Amino acid sequence: MSKKTIHIIGGGVIGLCAAWYLQEEGYEVTVIDQSDLSNGTSHGNAGMIVPSHFIPLAAPGVISKGIRWMFSAKSPFYIRPRLNNKLIQWLWQFYLSCNENKVHNAAPVLLAFNQWSKFLYETFAEEVGLDFSFEKKGLLMLFKTSKQQKEEASMVKQSRQLGLSANLLSKAEVEQLEQNANLNILGGAYFPDDAHLHPQQFIQQLLLRLKQTGVQFLQAKVVNFDIKDQQIKAIIDSNQQSIPTQQVLCTAGTWSAQLLEKAGISMLLQDGKGYSFTLPLSSNSPRIPSILAEAKVAITPMHQQLRIGGTLELGSLLSKKDKINALRLKGILERTTQYYPQLDVQPLYEQTPWVGYRPCTPDGMPYMGKAPKVQNLFIATGHGMMGMSLGPATGKLMRQIISKQKTSITTELFKIDRF
Ligand SMILES: Cc1cc2nc3c(=O)[nH]c(=O)nc-3n(C[C@H](O)[C@H](O)[C@H](O)COP(=O)(O)OP(=O)(O)OC[C@H]3O[C@@H](n4cnc5c(N)ncnc54)[C@H](O)[C@@H]3O)c2cc1C
Repeated sequence: MSKKTIHIIGGGVIGLCAAWYLQEEGYEVTVIDQSDLSNGTSHGNAGMIVPSHFIPLAAPGVISKGIRWMFSAKSPFYIRPRLNNKLIQWLWQFYLSCNENKVHNAAPVLLAFNQWSKFLYETFAEEVGLDFSFEKKGLLMLFKTSKQQKEEASMVKQSRQLGLSANLLSKAEVEQLEQNANLNILGGAYFPDDAHLHPQQFIQQLLLRLKQTGVQFLQAKVVNFDIKDQQIKAIIDSNQQSIPTQQVLCTAGTWSAQLLEKAGISMLLQDGKGYSFTLPLSSNSPRIPSILAEAKVAITPMHQQLRIGGTLELGSLLSKKDKINALRLKGILERTTQYYPQLDVQPLYEQTPWVGYRPCTPDGMPYMGKAPKVQNLFIATGHGMMGMSLGPATGKLMRQIISKQKTSITTELFKIDRF
């Protein structure tokens, strides 16, 4: 009997993890990517594996905060104003999703999904033998103001209610944990079950292992599909090459919605641009990953390096004027030293940052499952700020869906056509 074959479009963390589990299932897998897979969104991110992030981006209170941030050039959030129908629909659905009920339903699902993914990373490290500097040191949400302290206290309470360990710490208690860095904070919330890794190392190691197991890689930009009788017969690339296919999984990150329009599928997805800087670890560097809660900056020690990442600029990619925003970069670095005054970030002001584009859905939940209308098309994208965290569990879930097995978690909230 001939082997089942599948083409995966997009070789970021989601596509590569799916390739891993599908080849394990006996599929002949080809990953098609327009890039050389050396420096995409899945490479320069903050590498946090975060069961503690069970509240989706669309949550009560986010809109008023977002509006305030829109008026500050150095703030961590910005929407490029455009009269674009898809952006307007996205914002409307985002507004509708910012309610207690939706968050209440999403939280346990996101937590279980994240915990599953963390377990699968452990398996990659311990059983598959990939070395990607995976460390289980937890996450500190550092705060400077009593207003933010209240928000973190509420997160700690909600975490405990869902069975996740969490503690609200004073400045002195944070300093007991984080003895390297001098901190200018009021306190922190500590989530000991979070972990972190070096994203480039993970992607490179997984790529190597996939090649060894026979997964094929093709560098090409997919621009269209040849569809007959509701089946994709062939994938068309930008050189008008036609690649015959049996099944397709689209994991093209933030570019997925535009591409899938060619298959008649309409999805609300916006790119959330972010930046990161990487510097060598020094004696003043923190050893525990942290998020500067008011500033929305992520700080991750990874291997011999320290990565500082932040900002979410919505809808930059589709604008012809997409560029690196120097003021927002300055904002990231200035805010870092407000929390870690002894950290020398001065050389970073001269550095060109890494830029990545998070695929953001209006409700903060990914799209994962079989596509509507097209029989042999599957989709896994829209992981927003949590794609690195959720990569392995997404890969395994897609294997279960594609090979028609019972899924390990409920998929109702991930439906492709929910908007
Ligand atoms: C600053 C920053 C910090 C972050 N920190 C974290 C973190 O700490 N933890 C976390 O969990 N997440 C984090 N994220 C989010 C995470 O990086 C993303 O959610 C994740 O990388 C998305 O993975 P992906 O595989 O869906 O998309 P991508 O990594 O973007 O991969 C999509 C691939 O599809 C390819 N492609 C697109 N269109 C086509 C086409 N037409 N033909 C062929 N190929 C195509 C692209 O070349 C790309 O390689 C962060 C993101 C940013 C920007």
